[in-house]
Amino acid sequence: MSVNQQAHTGPPYGQPQPGYQGYQQPAYGGQPLPGVPQSQYGAYNGPMPGYQQPVPPQGYFPSLGFPSKGSPVSLNSDTSSLAPNFIGSLRAPPTSGAPPPASGASLPSGHLAYSQFGHGDVQNGIPTSAAPMQRPPASQPFLPGSAPTPVSQTSTFQQYGPPPASVQQLSNHMAGMTIGSTTASAPPPAGLGYGPPTSVPPVSGSFSTTGSGLYTPYTASQGPPPTSVSQGLPLAQPPFPGQPISTQRLPTQVPGFAPPPSSTGIGPSSYPPTTGAPRPPTMSGPPLPGQTAAGPPASQPNHVSSPPPPATMAGPHPGPHPGPPMSGLHGPPPPTHPPQPGYQMQQNGSFGQVRGPQPNYGGAYPGTPNYGSQPGPPPPPKRLDPDSIPSPQLNELPPQQKPRHRIDPDAIPSPIQVIEDDRSNRGSEPFVTGVRGQVPPLVTTNFVVKDQGNASPRYIRCTSYNIPCTSDMAKQSQVPLAAVIKPLATLPPEETLPYLVDHGESGPVRCNRCKAYMCPFMQFIEGGRRFQCCFCSCVTEVPPHYFQHLDHTGKRVDFYDRPELSLGSYEFLATVDYCKNNKFPSPPAFIFMIDVSYNAVKSGLVRLICEELKSLIDFLPREGNMEESAIRVGFVTYNKVLHFYNVKSSLAQPQMMVVSDVADMFVPLLDGFLVNVNESRTVIASLLDQIPEMFADTRETETVFAPVIQAGLEALKAAECAGKLFIFHTSLPIAEAPGKLKNRDDKKLINTDKEKTLFQPQTSFYNNLAKDCVAQGCCVDLFLFPNQYLDVATLGVVTYQTGGSIYKYAYFQLETDQDRFLNDLRRDVQKEVGFDAVMRVRTSTGIRATDFFGAFYMSNTTDVEMAGLDCDKTITVEFKHDDKLSEDSGALLQCALLYTSCAGQRRLRIHNLSLNCCTQLADLYRNCETDTLINYLAKHAYRGVLGSPVKTVRDALINQCAQILACYRKNCASPSSAGQLILPECMKLLPVYLNCVLKSDVLQPGPEVTTDDRAYIRQLVTSMDVAETNVFFYPRLLPLTKAEVDSDSLPAAIRNSEERLSKSDIYLLENGLNIFVWVGVNVQQSLIQNLFGVSSFSQISNALSTLPVLENSFSKKVRSIVDMLQVQRSRNMKLIIVKQEDKLEMLFKHFLVEDKSLSGGASYVDFLCHMHKEIRQLLS
Ligand SMILES: [Zn+2]
Repeated sequence: MSVNQQAHTGPPYGQPQPGYQGYQQPAYGGQPLPGVPQSQYGAYNGPMPGYQQPVPPQGYFPSLGFPSKGSPVSLNSDTSSLAPNFIGSLRAPPTSGAPPPASGASLPSGHLAYSQFGHGDVQNGIPTSAAPMQRPPASQPFLPGSAPTPVSQTSTFQQYGPPPASVQQLSNHMAGMTIGSTTASAPPPAGLGYGPPTSVPPVSGSFSTTGSGLYTPYTASQGPPPTSVSQGLPLAQPPFPGQPISTQRLPTQVPGFAPPPSSTGIGPSSYPPTTGAPRPPTMSGPPLPGQTAAGPPASQPNHVSSPPPPATMAGPHPGPHPGPPMSGLHGPPPPTHPPQPGYQMQQNGSFGQVRGPQPNYGGAYPGTPNYGSQPGPPPPPKRLDPDSIPSPQLNELPPQQKPRHRIDPDAIPSPIQVIEDDRSNRGSEPFVTGVRGQVPPLVTTNFVVKDQGNASPRYIRCTSYNIPCTSDMAKQSQVPLAAVIKPLATLPPEETLPYLVDHGESGPVRCNRCKAYMCPFMQFIEGGRRFQCCFCSCVTEVPPHYFQHLDHTGKRVDFYDRPELSLGSYEFLATVDYCKNNKFPSPPAFIFMIDVSYNAVKSGLVRLICEELKSLIDFLPREGNMEESAIRVGFVTYNKVLHFYNVKSSLAQPQMMVVSDVADMFVPLLDGFLVNVNESRTVIASLLDQIPEMFADTRETETVFAPVIQAGLEALKAAECAGKLFIFHTSLPIAEAPGKLKNRDDKKLINTDKEKTLFQPQTSFYNNLAKDCVAQGCCVDLFLFPNQYLDVATLGVVTYQTGGSIYKYAYFQLETDQDRFLNDLRRDVQKEVGFDAVMRVRTSTGIRATDFFGAFYMSNTTDVEMAGLDCDKTITVEFKHDDKLSEDSGALLQCALLYTSCAGQRRLRIHNLSLNCCTQLADLYRNCETDTLINYLAKHAYRGVLGSPVKTVRDALINQCAQILACYRKNCASPSSAGQLILPECMKLLPVYLNCVLKSDVLQPGPEVTTDDRAYIRQLVTSMDVAETNVFFYPRLLPLTKAEVDSDSLPAAIRNSEERLSKSDIYLLENGLNIFVWVGVNVQQSLIQNLFGVSSFSQISNALSTLPVLENSFSKKVRSIVDMLQVQRSRNMKLIIVKQEDKLEMLFKHFLVEDKSLSGGASYVDFLCHMHKEIRQLLS
């Protein structure tokens, strides 16, 4: 059949979907252009013998363009109303689906000769040559699967035509056919689970997910100019003796811990160095990241590009700042302050008070005595005295004498400031990976990576880039040593994908002993005849075909011609030795399995899915410049029984086979079940047209679940291939079948020792099933549409352990949720994925990988197995010492991922990273990355809740972080008053971020959070990368009214606190799962009109799931911001409109994470006090 047999006359997805950029992402390569080579990989090298690049289709260029069956211009309409330049010039997806220009301005197109690496910094440049790719046919020795041999079970087909009146049932194993009508048109029975939701679903029930942050198109212009940041730095101590200061990671004394000295305006703009804290020597180079939090800019961290809130917004009070510790928190000592005139506790709905420096503040506490240890004359006005931090001793004072202090939130470390500083300081230069132990820019900074021997931070980030030489030091510091690895991460278009190296039949060169793969750190000796392993020191002969002479420096002369000698990341083509049963794999298959029970049909879901699949199957992942995807597809529908479909191309109509004996699942047909899309297009289209009709009148409400997975598994087994199941499921599987579940939800278990059972699966059945799936390379992606509890903790087990993705749309409603679901589905189907994957992390002598976190299965202690691994999935690996390390040699990691590409090619992806080692704790603390630390700590805690009470997990987290900070204080900070809270510069956000983890729904649920939500979030977080956990735990809050309409940048973010909100403004908050648009009660009518198209605040509907498309600059700007954020995340975020003082506001406030939460979570200020108390106790 011709590929274009079914002409698509319109856009693949007709309706404008502003948020959906899936087909347009530049990383997807756009539409292939005839005559333009599509490989993203250039041939690694042309002429180098031994490195003959069959190039590679690096398959994975996440869907390098799809066959251009759809109208290439169709996507224009989606974004035609957006400001075209807003998306950002560097990383913006093209705003149309048009093919990239042949010159490939931003996409690698065509042949890239690797040998150009020898010419300096073009190594990682964008391939510019448009020469045709050399794509050796030998690299594709396998063809899309031949039809599998039918198994012994026989089956019978029945044709059915459109409007099917009856359906044939194959009731038992090859039993005779019993024709039974399933299409009676009786009214649906009443009862639970029936009927569509009758009211607007609680928003809290729906989380979408976020993804691997697609490279944030922040613009560097957002940050404040890095000038004068060093003024007033209250650095607590001089640089560490003997340590170069060039690391730019200096400790910070938390300035915020200054109570307002009486009669002193606490203007943070004038903090002098603290007593006993000599300034560091003058540093050259850019200002230190984050330090401005203590300096003048901190007072206006959120308004770097805009004026502070107008004075008219100020309330009569100094503001609802998080006040003194309040009782009921697990926070700081709660001295019960008597009500203070002039100071009000935070109240709901009180917005807009002046924040920041508050000249009148001191006046609120006239005569406040100095407390703490400030003998003698009052300190100079600018002095910060951390001794004034609430401390246990203060509790002993009689109430009247208690200091009436307050900590200025502007004076404590600000995430916004740290992020802005890093952007300013590190966003303009490329991050070149040639230097060992280099700390990369933050995940929130937009930067370009040049691979010069170490893996990009997009693939690997570490908690510390300088690790202690001994295990004693590591234990003393309590800093976990962990790497967050995203082996198939998507790269921005300006970076080069890993090259594919083919060593032919001999396969990759490896160390004889530890089997590490050839990498830039291997040492060639004896004139190049042997090499010494950098991991285990074993000496291995260089195979004759790999021999090369060394130059005068001992470097191989082909160093720059071979990715495995000069780059941190690359791929090897695997030989048959790396394949199961010593057989090259067949291309994988996708099986779509649709719940057709009453709820699914009634809500319109079944029809929606079928409509979508008709076009989506034309966009399956393709390898390199292949014309069509090698992936075969199959279709199953189910309720209490399963329906398989024969869509063989030779059939005039699809055939259905029903398997009602779900206790012993088998696949009733092989030939015709998994088919090539192009060959069977007509039959598939006919099937997808008929499915909604067939079940339109179903009365069946019960579903099975495990048999569905089993069916998919059996189908893949029979076809001898790996693959992915896409299961669309609506309810708790209560029908009689293996894996049947009961409703065991019980929120009364919260805060009891049995709470952990809510996170555990209710039966081990699914664990065993998952194991079988992994063995077959059967990955399960789950789309859930629950109207009530469906036990995500149990249903998600197989998804989780097979490396799959889970999506949940609670109270799914077509009108409001379909775009979000379809965007997720499209991305999920198209994204880069490897199958049958095994990952191993090797380390140099002295440390080893001891623990792993993520969505995978492990059958031994070293190999991480994943039936599927996609570009969004992250594995966090923890390391422990087993010997001493040396400062000279440092420490090395090598992550090797063996997987099957979407065309069935077996490959190895290798990432290498070299770290420094230290004998001084100070070096450890100066090379940490708090975002990565939080990623690890959250995953560790989220796993902990499976076995321990949540409170125990929270306490352990607090204790570990207190120890980390106490160790720093004791060993690295210069002597100073015990009352000072001194944080390492690189960890100054640890308290605020840790508090966010502690307050998250998994560890401290609010009343509206369901058990399924918690289980869902627990699973999502476990696979998140650092960028995702960062925004998930500390959401991004943007003042939309501050957005510059003519600029393509985002407005500067502000801190997540109610007191930062002005009731005259509109804000956007995103956490990777949701986008909230909050509208203050006093917002100008014109803004409301422009954004919502209504004339007053009261007319704004909070049922909107998208912003209306209006022709004015403000509307365009806001919608373009929303679109831009959606593109950055791996899942479509749910848009929720929140009006100030509306009932939904409570949900919104849950995400204002610097404030005290309704569920009892401490405010940032209170928590900082609490941490300080903990640290003091450890030190005393
Ligand atoms: Zn070795």
